[in-house]
Amino acid sequence: MEFNDNPAQAAWRNEVRTFLKDNLDPSLKTFTYMEEGESDTAALGKYRSALADRGWIASAWPKEYGGAGLGVMDQFILNQEFAEAGAPNLGGSGVMMLGPTLIAHGTEEQKKEHLGRILRGESVWCQGYSEPGSGSDLASLQTRAIRDGDDYVINGQKIWTSGAHRANWMFMLARTDPDAPKHRGISYFLIDMKTPGINVRPLINMGNMHSFNEVFFEDVRVPASNIVGEVNRGWYVGATTLDFERSSIGSAVGHRHNVEKGVEWMHEHRTDLSPSAYQSMKAQWSERAVEVQVALLLSLRVISMQARGEIPNAEASATKLYSSELSQRIARTSLATIGMWGGVTGNNAPMEGEAARTYLGTVASTIAGGTSEIQRNIIATRGLGLPRG
Ligand SMILES: Cc1cc2nc3c(=O)[nH]c(=O)nc-3n(C[C@H](O)[C@H](O)[C@H](O)COP(=O)(O)OP(=O)(O)OC[C@H]3O[C@@H](n4cnc5c(N)ncnc54)[C@H](O)[C@@H]3O)c2cc1C
Repeated sequence: MEFNDNPAQAAWRNEVRTFLKDNLDPSLKTFTYMEEGESDTAALGKYRSALADRGWIASAWPKEYGGAGLGVMDQFILNQEFAEAGAPNLGGSGVMMLGPTLIAHGTEEQKKEHLGRILRGESVWCQGYSEPGSGSDLASLQTRAIRDGDDYVINGQKIWTSGAHRANWMFMLARTDPDAPKHRGISYFLIDMKTPGINVRPLINMGNMHSFNEVFFEDVRVPASNIVGEVNRGWYVGATTLDFERSSIGSAVGHRHNVEKGVEWMHEHRTDLSPSAYQSMKAQWSERAVEVQVALLLSLRVISMQARGEIPNAEASATKLYSSELSQRIARTSLATIGMWGGVTGNNAPMEGEAARTYLGTVASTIAGGTSEIQRNIIATRGLGLPRG
């Protein structure tokens, strides 16, 4: 692997840095992730239109759909520089998940109706996959969609639906053929969240935040034209990605920033710590700093495979597993550093309460997007070639 940029990559990195210097208002830098509708300041609007002019809201989408059509290496550099600058991501799951699916499988009408609105921030999407009995084993999902004239009528329940309370559209999977083998009887629907019969109920997480929800469907009528791809082939439609970079470089850079903040705090408050506690904290932060380098290298391994045209599979799982577990180790080290203050989340606490909030927030990181056990299964079977347990 070549660690240094070639001349073209260095020029591209420079272009991205210059853009951020000129367009990223400092007031936006506090956001590391933002769902549309959460905050809409004039600065954000200006930033959005500067990004949109370059196709950088959805840098992986083809240019004809408003993206920039970047190759994976250029996406990697862009994502790395955005993470370094603390720039917000816009577009959420509309850009990352629905857009590529529509581009690959959608009808012309579906593309025309939805892609531009995602880029303009007019539609906010949520992902309706998980159900109370179907998470890791998603293909066992039970929400039913039954054809009735030009519509399907949907009944069932989704759970852990991030942002459903802010979304105006949902892409979701429902069972359209209960007699088919479980992966084959599922279809992929686009649903307007204002449709009668949809009931969104909040779930408050252990950090006292409202980020996900339960969503109930009672006789919800959805036009058959809102199915993406073929009926009963939704499982395969849902698995679509464009040529997205999958290195998780943003997380690796975020981990480094968190370690730097923790180390800075430890040095600044050295006199509050006993000499032995200071030595112990230094040793712990040294381990975290080394682990951050490992996370960065795992990201580079994934991107170097993609740059060679290979599809990372167990390698992407290893990166997700390592990165999510590292986020929890960093959070634990932060709490140990600030001692009794670690239970306080308010802005007056050390590190503005971020250590405590991160500690609570990172618990979910080893569940969301596929649990650590599932990642280990993938590494064991597809990566190491071990038999299924
Ligand atoms: C913060 C957060 C946001 C989320 N947002 C969304 C969203 O927007 N939309 C959405 O659809 N879903 C969302 N999810 C749901 C997420 O995809 C599921 O929680 C995840 O897939 C795990 O499913 P589950 O919770 O049903 O756990 P289960 O699948 O029931 O797993 C329970 C336990 O059993 C283990 N286990 C299960 N199967 C195996 C196996 N084969 N081998 C070994 N161990 C196994 C798991 O690792 C876990 O420890 C979100 C989850 C979180 C935490």
